[in-house]
Amino acid sequence: MIMKSPKIGYLSNAALIALLLLIVGCATVPVTGRKSLNILPDSELLSMSLQEYKDVLKKSKLSNDPAEVQMVKRVGKRIASATEQFFTEKGMKSEIKNYKWEFNLIEDDKVANAWCMPGGKVAVYTGILPITQDATGLAVVMGHEISHAIAKHGNERMSQGLLAQLGAAGLSAALSTNPGATSQIFMAAYGVGANVGVLLPYSRIQESEADHIGLILMAKAGYDPREAVPFWKRMNEKGGNRPPEFLSTHPAPETRIKDIEAKIPEAMKYYKRK
Ligand SMILES: [Zn+2]
Repeated sequence: MIMKSPKIGYLSNAALIALLLLIVGCATVPVTGRKSLNILPDSELLSMSLQEYKDVLKKSKLSNDPAEVQMVKRVGKRIASATEQFFTEKGMKSEIKNYKWEFNLIEDDKVANAWCMPGGKVAVYTGILPITQDATGLAVVMGHEISHAIAKHGNERMSQGLLAQLGAAGLSAALSTNPGATSQIFMAAYGVGANVGVLLPYSRIQESEADHIGLILMAKAGYDPREAVPFWKRMNEKGGNRPPEFLSTHPAPETRIKDIEAKIPEAMKYYKRK
């Protein structure tokens, strides 16, 4: 249980939320320009990310297929440098100045998933490789996941999750006094693992943003963005036991593919074959 601080006890929850938002304010999502609510300090998320990433790697079996591991690292690096280039061109380089990119392939054929934590800590599960099929398919997935991270969708989800679970009064104290709950929400907010206790699926608007930004990043990295359409078709056909990140509920599969098709002409302007 989280103790209410006596100093802020007299404030109503609504006033407290307003105050928090005033202090920490909004972040602007690159490319789409949407204002998103990011209550948690990025520095805090970054240090959690480093710890949680280490823990996940320690508990997982890493792939020892050199060709597949190399592919994940190569595609990841190309998208990372496209991302850095993109932020530099927009004069927003400071947004990712603390990123220390890392790309790992986790051996688990049952998990068709991938995620990126703040700071550029990426994991891909071997279960998604039959669906990505090649480096370009993998670029769709990694571009999408890296886009969730740079758009700070995890912070937005975590802010919402903490508010819902702990209430406004508990929020400010949560990171220091309730590390267990915070860690659980952190893992859920970044889609880590297939069996988390708290499910915080990305919202429809976040998914569309990640698709949109991901197309631009993959194109800038030299991967044909048109390949996103057949990739999502293959993903939809797979059905069955999908982890939260790739649940088909938002957006509906047909809508998603239509939306992606509509964004391809924009992405093609960034596409240079490498
Ligand atoms: Zn997503």
